[in-house]
Amino acid sequence: MKKAIASRNRYLLDKIMVKYICLSCGIADEFPLGVVRDFDHMGGKASSPPIFCCQQCGGDLYPENYKGVNGVEYKISNLCASPTED
Ligand SMILES: [Zn+2]
Repeated sequence: MKKAIASRNRYLLDKIMVKYICLSCGIADEFPLGVVRDFDHMGGKASSPPIFCCQQCGGDLYPENYKGVNGVEYKISNLCASPTED
């Protein structure tokens, strides 16, 4: 009965939490890596990480530090380094 490697990996992924920060109100939230990755697989755009909706204000939750399934690293610090205010 040892065919649980995939689900065990999944279990491990779900134990790792990815920290997200709301770009609008600055609140911090966390999502299991497994969930983020599922989302990542579904989303088509390689240029942006999986974005969640802030429960507090409805703004965009951006990962503080997340390496996407395509190998791209997303950091909120990179985002802050090039502000797009108008
Ligand atoms: Zn918010």
